[in-house]
Amino acid sequence: MIKKGIGRQIVLHYFIVVFVTLFMVEIIFTLTIRTYYYDTIYNHMYTHSIWASDYFQKFARSNSERDPDYFTEMLRSFELDNTELMILDRNGEVKASTNAFQADKAIQTGDVPVALAGGVGKWVGRQPSTGELVMAVSRPLQIQGQTQYIARFVTSLERVNSKLLNLTFLSIAVAAAVLAIVTLFSIGLANSIVKPINNIRDVSAQMARGKFDARIRGNYKYELGELAATLNYMAEEIVRSNQIKDEFISSISHELRTPLTGIKGWSETLTSGGFDPEETKLGMGIIAKETNRLIGLVEEILDFSKLQQNEMKLVIGQVNLKELIQETMLNVWAKAEQKQIQLKLEDRTEQPVIVSGDGNRLKQVFLNVVDNAIKFSHEQSWIHLVISLKEDGRAMVEVADTGIGISEEYLHKVKDRFFQVNHQGGGTGLGLAISQQIVELHHGEMGIHSELGVGTTVTVTLPVAEDAELPDASASAAPQGDSSSGSENAGRLDPEKDDQA
Ligand code: ADP
Repeated sequence: MIKKGIGRQIVLHYFIVVFVTLFMVEIIFTLTIRTYYYDTIYNHMYTHSIWASDYFQKFARSNSERDPDYFTEMLRSFELDNTELMILDRNGEVKASTNAFQADKAIQTGDVPVALAGGVGKWVGRQPSTGELVMAVSRPLQIQGQTQYIARFVTSLERVNSKLLNLTFLSIAVAAAVLAIVTLFSIGLANSIVKPINNIRDVSAQMARGKFDARIRGNYKYELGELAATLNYMAEEIVRSNQIKDEFISSISHELRTPLTGIKGWSETLTSGGFDPEETKLGMGIIAKETNRLIGLVEEILDFSKLQQNEMKLVIGQVNLKELIQETMLNVWAKAEQKQIQLKLEDRTEQPVIVSGDGNRLKQVFLNVVDNAIKFSHEQSWIHLVISLKEDGRAMVEVADTGIGISEEYLHKVKDRFFQVNHQGGGTGLGLAISQQIVELHHGEMGIHSELGVGTTVTVTLPVAEDAELPDASASAAPQGDSSSGSENAGRLDPEKDDQA
């Protein structure tokens, strides 16, 4: 017994469709073959009756009835194999018959009146005397258009019927065999669908219980193969994101612990007292620096969670892209200086490029990108920043470094949240994920091209403001109140003049 479900439905559908079809074929076959046999018998008797009637018309003598051999001769001349021949008079009474047993009553079956009316009568039914199924064909025997007698040919249909019955049984047996084969085939088909589905269901139930190392094995085809591959992929992604989350928690704990240890150490040391002002200043400076680092870290996590919940609100204004990049360079200048990295800005546009967006957020994007470029560049190298207009009219900023680069294997993952190629380098792995989302909120795109050991280029493409009003040359598009360490160096830095920050 097949269990309730898709399997049973498939088998049942196949069974019903094939059963109904075979049933109809069976009926049509039986009727056709019966009609064929009956028609053949009828045609045989009909043709013979034509001959008998022609013969009678040509050779019968009208008053030979008195001749005792008259009917015997007629019977002998007109008889047909396996058929009883009756000669009836115009009242339907049997005058002579090839069958020894003669009915004493007039024959009243449907064929006789037709023959009396001059036509050829046919009748199929049971003989009242014997109960045997017969076919009778009656034809008038005429002289000069006058019906003298009726020649009635009667043949038994019992043998034909038993032959028909045998054929029907044979065809039913064939139909049953076909039905059995189709049912077996449909069970096989149902199993080939249901087994993988059951397997997929069992494995996905394991996955739902948190067993993400479970995989759907088996070489399934078509949609089932795609479903299995999708579920396996989903499990791999869950494992990967869990791993990333674990790594994030461990790296964030590490990131938090380092500044906290510094703050704790210096605050305890300073509390114990007895330090000269220089030492106290140094300790307080470290505490302030580490606190800033902690604030930056927490802000990054908060930003990320805001972006995740679509809660980040942009304060849209008109932003001069070049000024924004210059501000960014000023902010990271000190850091670049430490590694003796040169920052070069090249503006390939003819007019100032104004984009409509949130200056603070866009600056956050460029700060992160340039900060990464510095972080992953070798000492005494250079970072090239290019502002240009694309053919489609959008503005593009490229930040190219000649640093360690990213291997192809990791390149497509670096914009994923929490992903870091190397966890020893500090950071959270959130910077690029946040930047990407901010750029997308500005209807722009962020791309990364990189070659391991050669360098990385990050491109940020942004739509240009349509009704841009050129800002006052003295006003900066950069956000107000920015507390970057590089801003006080603005006087010393003109990235375009000396191409160096
Ligand atoms: P974080 O810098 O906090 O680690 P990001 O999301 O900004 O996080 O960067 C993710 C990872 O991408 C980095 O950890 C680093 O492995 C890689 N990466 C980003 N920018 C560069 C770059 N310019 N050169 C080499 N690797 C980079």
